[in-house]
Amino acid sequence: MSAIATQFYPESEAARLRGLYGHLSGHALLEALVHNELGGQIMLSSSFGAESAVLLDLVATVDPTIPVIFLDTRRLFGETLRYQKTLTDHLGLEDVRIVHPEADTLLRLDPDDMLFNEDPDQCCHIRKVAPLDNIMNKMGNLGFKAWITGRKQFQATTRDALPVIEADVDFIKINPLADWTSEDIKQAFLARNLPPHPLVADGFKSIGCMPCTSRVAEGADPRSGRWAGRDKTECGIHVARRPSLSVV
Ligand code: SF4
Repeated sequence: MSAIATQFYPESEAARLRGLYGHLSGHALLEALVHNELGGQIMLSSSFGAESAVLLDLVATVDPTIPVIFLDTRRLFGETLRYQKTLTDHLGLEDVRIVHPEADTLLRLDPDDMLFNEDPDQCCHIRKVAPLDNIMNKMGNLGFKAWITGRKQFQATTRDALPVIEADVDFIKINPLADWTSEDIKQAFLARNLPPHPLVADGFKSIGCMPCTSRVAEGADPRSGRWAGRDKTECGIHVARRPSLSVV
């Protein structure tokens, strides 16, 4: 039974929730949504990147059993893989689900691990978009309706109008940190004594796959270190999902 079959309409539901809770953000927004509206139907996707600890901490304090999807593209830094374990233990997250790209697909379309250089959109598609689409379809079939993300308006011009609640094709997206500033994030790390990603001290401000992540100069747009030198700013997982996306 799919989300569509149960007559769940993300656009109208997102508009309703925005009317009730759109003035909230952060912990207050999550707590209200989880306890009043979406308990047992909400999940989180996290890269366990430079700022991820703040949102994961909010989720853990509201409900540590909320499923956390971690997409291991097989091109992540070893530091990120270790940080995922450290942070999971530190915060007491109880349901982290690690998702990988299909081994057969990688063998067929990226046998030498160089697709990031030849066709980064296709590389992101097979390593991120398609695996996430598969798990999201499964979660939708289990009755999940909402997806928490860590996106923020200040991260890039493509995100400067990001609302706290929005509709995707077949989910509602909740962005509890949408209106947070980088100073808010810094203060949350301090206030909650959150362990930093080990690469932050080494100059990495936005951390994704190893071949596509660079150090960023102090004061520069943190996401300018992602796909530096290329006309690419997003991996595609936050472009509205199509219901039957498949790997080509
Ligand atoms: S970020 Fe780079 S390595 Fe990772 S999936 Fe995208 S193109 Fe491939």
